[in-house]
Amino acid sequence: MATGGNKKLTGKVAVVTASTEGIGLAAARRLGEDGAHVVISSRKQKNVDRAVTELQAEGLSVMGVTCHVAKEEDRKNLFDKAVEKFGGVDILVSNAAVNPAVGGVLDCPGEVWDKIFEVNVKNSLQLSQLAVPLIRQRKGGAIVYISSVAAFQPFVLLGAYSVSKTALLGLTKAVAQQVACDNIRVNCVAPGVIKTKFSDLLVNTPEIHDKMVETIPLNRVGKPKEIAGLVSFLCSDDASYITGESFVAAGGMQSLSLFSVIRFKNYECVGNDGLMGVCYTVLDCARGGGNPSGQCAAGFGVCCVTSQGCGGRTWNNITYFQSPGFPATFNQATTCTHTLTFTSDVCQIRMDVEVIELSPPTVHGRCIDDSLTFSTGYKWSSVCGTTVDTHFYHDVDTAQSSALTFTFTTGSKSFDRRWRFRLSQICCDQLSMAPTGCGQYFTTPKGLIKGWNHDGLYLSGQNYAICVRKERNTCSTTYKDKRQFAFKPICDDTFEYPYPVFNDAPSSTTCQTPFTFLNPMPLTVPLQGPHYFYLVTTTDTTNDHTTATNLFYTYTQNTC
Ligand code: NAP
Repeated sequence: MATGGNKKLTGKVAVVTASTEGIGLAAARRLGEDGAHVVISSRKQKNVDRAVTELQAEGLSVMGVTCHVAKEEDRKNLFDKAVEKFGGVDILVSNAAVNPAVGGVLDCPGEVWDKIFEVNVKNSLQLSQLAVPLIRQRKGGAIVYISSVAAFQPFVLLGAYSVSKTALLGLTKAVAQQVACDNIRVNCVAPGVIKTKFSDLLVNTPEIHDKMVETIPLNRVGKPKEIAGLVSFLCSDDASYITGESFVAAGGMQSLSLFSVIRFKNYECVGNDGLMGVCYTVLDCARGGGNPSGQCAAGFGVCCVTSQGCGGRTWNNITYFQSPGFPATFNQATTCTHTLTFTSDVCQIRMDVEVIELSPPTVHGRCIDDSLTFSTGYKWSSVCGTTVDTHFYHDVDTAQSSALTFTFTTGSKSFDRRWRFRLSQICCDQLSMAPTGCGQYFTTPKGLIKGWNHDGLYLSGQNYAICVRKERNTCSTTYKDKRQFAFKPICDDTFEYPYPVFNDAPSSTTCQTPFTFLNPMPLTVPLQGPHYFYLVTTTDTTNDHTTATNLFYTYTQNTC
């Protein structure tokens, strides 16, 4: 926005609180440049005098009044002096705010909370109560509250302050409603990080500054005058049809609506190196052991990519667990553990195998040399061999455990090993959740089912359900095998039926249409509803079933 010049506020009188420095001073200057008579104010007389001298030297029409916004007599005096000198009031810019403490909202002592809410919210209301009758006398005008981008996405270390700024969004709407009939427009400006004394710690501590700038798509902090133009616009007739709104000027920082913000967190994203991550704040990302890797769409946080090796522990969603030196292979005996913790709103973990190359089973198909095992209580026994590009689901029972441990153990047998798999946490309300009990879940009209063992992994004695979501208007599914397999899908049922727990032999009474995949292919199975089938591996451990346990076939859902 071009500075000054067109005098769109000629003849107007503007009162700006906290206007001897920073954003307030810049707004006062811009309103003056746009033609208004401006009342400068702040707590300290010397600051008021300095600001008045500075702006008068620029040829602007200003006067100064000391006003601590928390003092009733100061507030009253502010408007009295404005009327006395300039004959009335058309504009109020309520800019004063405090933040006496740094910390999370739950750590905020009651007296600090009261102070923050008194200055940032209550005093803004009280200033409006004084301004409205005066603006009404002028047959209309404007009020602008200065909030913050933290109103939409609280800054972790500015908890109470952020909430007070959120309250200003509500105050804007409420006051706007009440004074609309008086032709008084009320709007709110929510700056991002602006270089002022107020933001000194953030802006002038290099580590904090650099991390913060990563969250700003314009890649820099703002200047006070970049807020001033928006304030002046909202006070002018150019904004004559705008009231009750809040405008963010934050270089693209995350600033979605209150409802969307909740959903922004955990959105999947692709980091700079092509690995998947989730949108987090920089702080949340670092806490879980991740690294910011580029911006999320439209700058809503950073894309947090978490990639860990042996000994890793994280609660971040979408994390990679990989072998030492990945993608290079290694050839030595080791035990490598990764722990994933999750919160009570998580219902499932999905594991996407990019690659697992372990020493294959040798004795009766059992993992003798190398294995991947899951923490106690998990239903899968150890697995080994080679597999790529498959997935499986694990239902989480947070009442029993809030962590899942993955342990790769490699033995002394010479073998070039490596692995990388991706772990996603699925919240209970997410549409991508698989039906309970599904070891794998496919959600397309046709696809390629690759069993957990499709490349030769042996799963002795393991049973699991492969679930396919039935598409609308389909009445049957045709399966074609691509490889030999030894699984027997023995049930076809609807999802409504409670699924038997893993490792329980499926009871034929639960099956509506028992069938076996050992029938000649292609095999077409009629379907009434969404379906799964239950796969049973052999429990025969006297033979090596490595090559016989492949499971790799296409499915197509047929329209009715
Ligand atoms: P600043 O540069 O530190 O200036 C603060 C001004 O407020 C000074 O003129 C100070 O003068 C005055 N002041 C302080 N307490 C006062 C009180 N109780 N009554 C009246 N005047 C008072 O601050 P700023 O960064 O421009 O912040 C201005 C507004 O923008 C605040 O509402 C802040 O929450 C908001 N904001 C700032 C940022 C940012 O990054 N800077 C981001 C989002 C929102 P005296 O010492 O003489 O009183």
